Parts: sequence; C-alpha cells; structure tokens
Amino acid sequence: MTATLKQDIKDKARQLGFILAGVTSCTPPAHYPIFEEWLNKGFHGAMNYLVEERSRTRRADPRQIFPECKSILVLALPYLNLEGRMQNAEFQIAAYALGEDYHEVIPPRLKLMVEFIEEQIGYPIPNRYYTDTGPILERELAQRAGLGWVGKNSMLINPTAGSTFFLAEILLGIELEPDDPITDHCGTCTRCITACPTQAILPNRTLDARRCISYLTIENKGDIPEELRPPMQDWIFGCDICQMVCPWNRFSAPPDSAFEPPTPLRISAPDLTLSSVEFNRRFKRSPLKRAKRRGVLRNLAVAIGNSGNKTDLPILEQAIQDDEPLVREHAKWAREKVRSKK
Ligand code: SF4
Repeated sequence: MTATLKQDIKDKARQLGFILAGVTSCTPPAHYPIFEEWLNKGFHGAMNYLVEERSRTRRADPRQIFPECKSILVLALPYLNLEGRMQNAEFQIAAYALGEDYHEVIPPRLKLMVEFIEEQIGYPIPNRYYTDTGPILERELAQRAGLGWVGKNSMLINPTAGSTFFLAEILLGIELEPDDPITDHCGTCTRCITACPTQAILPNRTLDARRCISYLTIENKGDIPEELRPPMQDWIFGCDICQMVCPWNRFSAPPDSAFEPPTPLRISAPDLTLSSVEFNRRFKRSPLKRAKRRGVLRNLAVAIGNSGNKTDLPILEQAIQDDEPLVREHAKWAREKVRSKK
C-alpha cells in the first residue's frame, strides 16, 4: 500500500511539473552541527533570522516545526536553464528570477499535491509545506530524499537535471517509505571554486555568504563593501556563475512554463531612474521585488560603474539626486568608476 501510494504521489508530482520527487524521514538533519559552526563563524552575514533561537531549534529538527510529521516529500521544479539566462541583456539577472515569482507559482501546486494525497488515502492529513520560506535545511533533506547531492557550490545537484530547479518540501502526517540518498559526484572538480569572482566558495565546502553575489545583491540591505563591487561585474540580482561552470548543468531540465517568460526580463541603465511607482508596477510579479527599489537600483548603479560606459554618466548624475541615500552613494561610486575609465 505505502509503496503504491508513494509511486502514485510521484506520478502526480510529475503531472504537476515537478521533475524530481523523493521521500525522507523527519529525523534531524545529520549536518546540523556544521550549519551551527557556519553561523558561529559569521558566514551568514546580516541574515540575522538564521541565528534566532527559535529558528535554530526548528532547523535542527523538523518535528519542532510540525510535531505530527511522519515523512517529508521533497520536490523540484525547474527554472529557466542557463542557456536561457545567457540570452539576457546588458546586465545579468539570475536565471531563477527571470520568470514569475516562485513564491506565487509553487505553493498552489503543493496544495494540489496535498489534496491528491488526501484523496488517495480518504481522509485529511496534517501537513505543512514550504518553498524556500521554511526554517528547514532543505538541501540536506533533498539529498536524503535522493534528489541529488550538495555540491561544492552548495547547490543541490542531480545527475540528470543539474541544479537549475527550485526545491519545495511537504511535511506530512503519514508514513511513507524513505528513498535512498544519492552520493556525491563532485569528485576532484573545483570549477565553481575557481570561477567565483568574489572567492565566496571556500575549499572545505563552505560558502562565505558575505562574499556571495547572490547575498550581496539580495539579502544584503545596506552598502555593498567597496572591494566587492568590481568583482560583482554586471550582476544585478543573484548570480549563476557557479552553476554556469558546473559540468552537471549540461543536463539541466527544460524549464517549467511559468519560469519561461515570453519576453525575458531585461534591465538597462535608464532603469536607474525608475520611480517607486514604476518599480512596483514593473516588478509586481517578479522575485526582484524582494530586493526592493533601493536594493535593485543600488546593484544597478554598481553594474553601471563596472561597465565603465561614459554614455551612462547623465543617468548616474540623475541618480545622485535620488531620495534614497543607498542609491545616491552607489551612484556616486559608479560615476567615479566610469570617469576614471581610460
Ligand atoms: S562545478 Fe564541480 S565542484 Fe562545483 S558543484 Fe559542480 S561538480 Fe561540484
């Protein structure tokens, strides 16, 4: 019965667009102490929500979030693959952010998954679902559920689908047989470590988030340290470099249609003068709204500075008058960078 139910659940997951599905138990993640050590070394930067006592307790044991948990279904939904991202323009946006906001797309499908399971067993079941929002170590759970291994770049990598997918988890109040984990296939490869322009990937499988372009452009709400601005190159929201160089992404799955926009999101230098109203209208359905206008414009100013394009100087002059101090400061830095370019 359980094996058949599990297979039916996986078939349904595939119908809903999830390319990978696996089951793990609710036992505490074995690597939690490594996460604690990472926090204690301060690698999480200003992501203070990670260090709160309640958040730590819950990450250490899924049953602290949901005591009825008996098994966890882990799912993967593919976003735009990296070839798609590379068709993007002048300034770079991480592939996952070029389509609809995944926080809007994935939860309704998780709800449908739960409804399907309830129909199969004939009664309501306690459940809780997350996509990137829950206090759980989702990549470790995904590894345990057989979806892939955590690569040296800290992404979850699947041998047939690369790493260009979102993860989602459903904590279930029913017992399902756990799947077998996949072993690590990074081997002696160090491409992501070498390619990272800010040296955020440390050799011992540790990511120094404070140096990671994704962190600097999204999670970081304040100034970008000056020494990290030039290596950020033309990235204005997230970064795909460690995934672009990863050989396993030759096997990236085709994207779900929700993440393959008919017209790819593009940002150009004149967007540095977007008003709040224009920004909100333009990014209403995009993950970029998470960084807010001040964050996106801060990042764009840095990228314009790095491009060194003198025709952008009038735009920078205008941004130096912006109401937002964060935008003004980064625009000033960019103006000096462009002016100094030979
Ligand atoms: S680039 Fe190489 S080392 Fe890095 S995650 Fe991919 S396989 Fe692992």
